[in-house]
Amino acid sequence: MTYTRREFSKTILKAAAGIAVSGPMLSSLGCASRRYPKTDRTIPRVLADLHIHVDINDWNKNTPLGIENPLLTYVADKFVNKTGLDWKKSHEAGVDLICASHFNVFDEWLSMPTDPNPHAPANTHRMMDRLEQKLRGPIEPYARLVKNSGEMKRSLAIPKTDPDYRITVVHTVEGGHALGGDLGALESMAKRGLAMLTLTHFFNKGIASAGNSFPFFPDANSDWPNQGLSEFGREVIQEMENLGIIVDVIHSTPTAMEDIFEASTKPLVSSHSAARTLSDHPLSLIDEHIQEIAHRNGIIGVIIDPYLLSNYATLTQAETKATLSDVVRNIRYLVKMCGSHKNVGIGSDFAGFITGPTDMLHISQVGRLRAMLLDEFGDERIVNDIMANNVIEFLIKNWHSGV
Ligand SMILES: [Zn+2]
Repeated sequence: MTYTRREFSKTILKAAAGIAVSGPMLSSLGCASRRYPKTDRTIPRVLADLHIHVDINDWNKNTPLGIENPLLTYVADKFVNKTGLDWKKSHEAGVDLICASHFNVFDEWLSMPTDPNPHAPANTHRMMDRLEQKLRGPIEPYARLVKNSGEMKRSLAIPKTDPDYRITVVHTVEGGHALGGDLGALESMAKRGLAMLTLTHFFNKGIASAGNSFPFFPDANSDWPNQGLSEFGREVIQEMENLGIIVDVIHSTPTAMEDIFEASTKPLVSSHSAARTLSDHPLSLIDEHIQEIAHRNGIIGVIIDPYLLSNYATLTQAETKATLSDVVRNIRYLVKMCGSHKNVGIGSDFAGFITGPTDMLHISQVGRLRAMLLDEFGDERIVNDIMANNVIEFLIKNWHSGV
């Protein structure tokens, strides 16, 4: 596009006017943000989050591709990974529990020619090792890994005003591709405290068909018999149940979900979800599946990503306009569909390359969501349950793996 001199001058003038107008607006937004309530360590329960990618970019940076292309991971983290977690600030905010989700994009996307990647289980253990190293090192003052539900209970019983209080951290894995097609991999992961595994993710990797997350991942349209749960997928569920690992159904297609209901006997999790009635995305749960998960005493974690929670025409619209009200609306709807608030929790998906609402981009800002839920439900007990107690109680009851 070539500009005439007149058009160019007009553009510059418009930009200058934009800055002049948005300057005061931005500073007034700053004032507004100061009015948001903060949480702190005097609040007994603040947040138990079913799904946070605590180390995704660190892992990407330290893989051969990331080491060779540092600019790529820098740009991805700086401009695409908009939500995040600061351990120190989250500790100050009194966050209770984080399910740390390990996801290896390289084993999922780049292993296509050798699918499934036989090195995936070893890579998954390396991801767990890295997080454990950090938990023994720089983030030790703020967080503590627990390797079974007994340890989790003890860690969560420490009052947050006590110097021994830490955010309780649990290992979880997103994407059955982490097993590399080897059922035996589950046992070694269970032994070190894997609490939950998401069966499928962006692509069907031989376990279950995956809902289409992006237009350029057309997996949901793959031909039969790839539409549901595979035979290997059934074996995975059975082995997970034997080992006491919780099955996470998010990312499955509705057909795969039906197969999972048939194959499983234990309560299920959908860790970072939205209701399809409010958000027309292939990842969102249809009403019948919301009710089935609740009926089986499962739990649905609500994702804090308005693009997936509503029907914004474009991602840019969601990025610029969306707020926590999209999250609250989904929570209200899920509570109604489940028939009880006890089956609903939070699974933010923060630091997982999502967009996030304009008024909450860091986990430590969770006081904003809590305040809005208090306005919505008018009952602190219900809010505490949705924000933390439901997830904690669910894990205590259903997580049986670990050492
Ligand atoms: Zn996900």
